[in-house]
Amino acid sequence: MAMLNAPRTVLPFIASLLLFFGLTAACTSDAQQRPDRDPIQWEVHDEDRPQPPIADPGPAPEEPQPVPDDATVLFDGTDLDAWESVDGGEAPWRLGDGYMEVEPGSGDIQSREEFGDVQVHVEWAAPEEIEGEGQGRGNSGVFLMGLYEMQILDSYENPTYPDGQNAGIYGQYPPLANASRPPGEWQTFDIYFERPHFDENGRLVKPARVTTFHNGVLVLEGVELTGPVGHQERPPYQAHDHRLPLRLQDHGDEVRFRSVWVRDLEE
Ligand code: MG
Repeated sequence: MAMLNAPRTVLPFIASLLLFFGLTAACTSDAQQRPDRDPIQWEVHDEDRPQPPIADPGPAPEEPQPVPDDATVLFDGTDLDAWESVDGGEAPWRLGDGYMEVEPGSGDIQSREEFGDVQVHVEWAAPEEIEGEGQGRGNSGVFLMGLYEMQILDSYENPTYPDGQNAGIYGQYPPLANASRPPGEWQTFDIYFERPHFDENGRLVKPARVTTFHNGVLVLEGVELTGPVGHQERPPYQAHDHRLPLRLQDHGDEVRFRSVWVRDLEE
């Protein structure tokens, strides 16, 4: 008799379990499906994706921001010694008075040192003289581990597809706000990057995650990357080393940099 009665007492229990997990799943997916966060809800470079609101960050500081004493300085305006061409050899970009500038067509440069989890500070400026529009204006990029691009673009009064905007993750996440200064003015990125983790079989166990402030404005809040950055695609992760160089993009525009430093969070 006890056995026959069991299902009747167990069923309501199972029903409430299902209800509980159903509600939990509903809440979770609700949180994950906020349209500004979830790249799966939007096609890559979807023009219908909402444009980020404008947040005026105020004027640029005259001088570069002070460098924390535990930071590794990759560029302080004086030499390109910490950098090399991604094709090997010396970094082929121009050195100006207190800045370096993309030499269009010379290719990307990368840090000689490699990093995993890292805090990155970059000060850059788009060309003062406006040329081109959309993706063809002040385009460069900070490639974390050489694979995951924080887009640099002159997004001041220069519309483009939202996931290609300045201070977003190219092809994945638009910034939460457009905090761009006019071209020619110095701008800052403060990036907290957590590298992806792979198991011994090369399977992804933890995606890369990025939090970024652009000119002091929060633009990416712990977004989980879908994989490396691509143009018109979201390629899947492929297992890679724990530490890889930081890379800066030559996209054909004379973008300048005056300060780049990192804090290694993995040592
Ligand atoms: Mg770029």
